[in-house]
Amino acid sequence: MKSRGLAAQSSTSSLEPFEFERRELRPNDVALDIAYAGICHSDIHQVREEWGPSIFPMVPGHEIAGTVTAIGSAVSKFKVGDRIGIGVFIDSCRTCASCKKGLEQYCENGNTGTYNSLERDGKTIAFGGYSNNFVVDADFAVHIPNNLDLAGVAPLLCAGITLYSPLKHWNAKSGTRVGIVGLGGLGHMGVKFAKALGAEVTVFSHSSQKESDALAMGADHFILTRDPATLKDLSRSYDLILNTVSAELDISAYLNMLSLDGTLVVIGLPGKPYSVGAGVLLGARRSLAGSQVGGVAEIQEMLDFCGVHNIVSDVEVIQADYANTAYERTVASDVKYRFVIDGASF
Ligand code: NAP
Ligand code: ZN
Ligand code: ZN
Repeated sequence: MKSRGLAAQSSTSSLEPFEFERRELRPNDVALDIAYAGICHSDIHQVREEWGPSIFPMVPGHEIAGTVTAIGSAVSKFKVGDRIGIGVFIDSCRTCASCKKGLEQYCENGNTGTYNSLERDGKTIAFGGYSNNFVVDADFAVHIPNNLDLAGVAPLLCAGITLYSPLKHWNAKSGTRVGIVGLGGLGHMGVKFAKALGAEVTVFSHSSQKESDALAMGADHFILTRDPATLKDLSRSYDLILNTVSAELDISAYLNMLSLDGTLVVIGLPGKPYSVGAGVLLGARRSLAGSQVGGVAEIQEMLDFCGVHNIVSDVEVIQADYANTAYERTVASDVKYRFVIDGASF
């Protein structure tokens, strides 16, 4: 199947128009027209090789919302015309302990990334969602509730699930004091989900102009992090802190704000290690944890939750030729709060 998209040819090149082929439908495949593809900061990290060597040419994009145009002979999960979403991975080994639990994001044999990855044949480059269409195994796609706008849904497939999953895993609920660090694409979804789960939500941000937006999204408190003394004063104030910051951060200052038995979940992936003093962990039996997207079943659960609670991402819809500028603005924390590319513009 012919496909048009945007690709980077190397870690120093910009995104440029790119034509390529997607596979013909296998029995369990579905084809879709992409309506919107979100720009995740992980796309930028990988294009720029901030996590190590990448596979080029790279068509980034793992926040995909669209409409089914064709189905393979064995597909019963979808029909033509269905609204469909695809996230960060498109296959996994399906046999390891994690996969058997529906936690394909932690596949012990490595899942197949939506891009910057080789298909399970070990040689075909996976091309992502910055393109007009896609072919995917139906087992790795999800249904999108009919009441939600597709532009606002696309970012749920990565940013949404990445915050929903740890909030559920660490049992955020009424009475839980949750801190969200960084009000970007991930962070703003964290605010919406934590509020919908009944938690008391504090946003930590280094951007003073985001305060009114944070409160409008439902945050109870907004803390500007520019002055380190502010964080010291908040020692032992939170049960659960989710760090979504894409840059290096003084993680110990955030650990210190956890109360007894509190957990700080690392979600942002700046590429350089954090430095953590042991004392801050011992002093209140604190935990430092990590979390990575969510499995297929949980992505569906999250989207259904969004349908019920009318939750979508706040997006700026752009045309494909604006993507390089959108990258610069994302790195500068200048997006409200996720760029999504109009699939018709490729
Ligand atoms: P984003 O939209 O760029 O948001 C990151 C936010 O971090 C910014 O909005 C900003 O918030 C804050 N920030 C950025 N630079 C900063 C700096 N120098 N100092 C302090 N704060 C800074 O990025 P995103 O798409 O949400 O992704 C965030 C991170 O999560 C990335 O590293 C990405 O790779 C990672 N990620 C992880 C997973 C996972 O499964 N764990 C999934 C997706 C993405 P304020 O302006 O409010 O300070
Ligand atoms: Zn992502
Ligand atoms: Zn597996």
